[in-house]
Amino acid sequence: MATNVNQASEVGTPLSTEASVNKRNIVSSAVAANASTAQQDESNIQLKLTSLLQTTLKIEPLFDLFFGQLQHLLKINSCSYSFQEKNITIKLGKVSTHTTDYSLRLQDSYLGNIVFSRKQRFATEELEHLEGLLSILIYPLRNALSYRDAIQQALSDPLTGLANRGALEQAIAHQWQMAQRYEQHFCVLMLDIDHFKSINDNYGHGVGDNVLKAVAHSISDTTRQTDVAYRYGGEEFVVILNKSALSGALIIAERIRENVAALSVPVDAKGKEKVKVTISIGGSCSSYCSDTQDLLRQADKVLYCAKNAGRNRVEFSSKEGNTHTQRDFLVTADGRQH
Ligand code: GH3
Ligand code: MG
Ligand code: MG
Repeated sequence: MATNVNQASEVGTPLSTEASVNKRNIVSSAVAANASTAQQDESNIQLKLTSLLQTTLKIEPLFDLFFGQLQHLLKINSCSYSFQEKNITIKLGKVSTHTTDYSLRLQDSYLGNIVFSRKQRFATEELEHLEGLLSILIYPLRNALSYRDAIQQALSDPLTGLANRGALEQAIAHQWQMAQRYEQHFCVLMLDIDHFKSINDNYGHGVGDNVLKAVAHSISDTTRQTDVAYRYGGEEFVVILNKSALSGALIIAERIRENVAALSVPVDAKGKEKVKVTISIGGSCSSYCSDTQDLLRQADKVLYCAKNAGRNRVEFSSKEGNTHTQRDFLVTADGRQH
């Protein structure tokens, strides 16, 4: 289950003289008596930990609970869990001198890597104790990882890999609460591919899908790591720009627009013929909207102003209810100039 990769150990001194036989026996029977109490204690600890870890299906709280117990039982100073492939890193406590590192597996499934540290060297029996506790963590961890996968699947769009509309609704509600509580305002961009229907009509749905993927990639490449892009519907996307004011949001929106306009998506297997694509963008900011619906409604409204004004352009709604645009433009998805 848990493979100890880098194990610290301490070996006890054996009793070897004749004179010490008795003592050894006494010690042995004391050990036997102690052993049953210790076994009882250990199974109580294990029972308590088992029921504690069953109280959550989420990974972070699971490690909080587990680490809390380890601090108490084994004076562990830090616990660091990572699962690179799933992009999970959890660091708890302050790293100390002596470490022990486990690669976690259940049957053939890899469940991540865990490193513990503490000030004192780990003795062999302590490592055994730790491994016993790790074996209790394994099943709740496997369940928490599966739960996380299921949630991620439910909240992501299979075609583009972006988060989907359900995820957007959760994120925007959370962001709105933060904006109210800490006055950290944010902006929303609503993006729509220009004349996308004509791409489907001219080249087929397969090429249309590839264009959607290429646009989605370009949008998420352009936005910072903290800004998340969502597929809102068919050929519409939303980006939430964290802690952004209008001026910063305009710059990012322009950059997204330019990068999408620079794309050339192959329309055949050999990649000889390529299709160009543009998007129109409408933006709004939380500072002058009444709620999340208003925020999306305003972004949508100015998106259609951008469409009506010729497409491949960015428009923002402003406090006064006016629209605000960075530039007037240009070429549409089918190559027409305006
Ligand atoms: P506009 O510039 O006004 O936005 O024009 P448009 O052609 O982009 O807009 P319209 O709403 O007329 O067409 C959107 C098209 O997007 C129609 C629909 O078939 C297509 N679409 C929606 N989802 C998908 C998808 O997942 N894959 C593909 N290939 N096409 C899709
Ligand atoms: Mg549309
Ligand atoms: Mg469109």
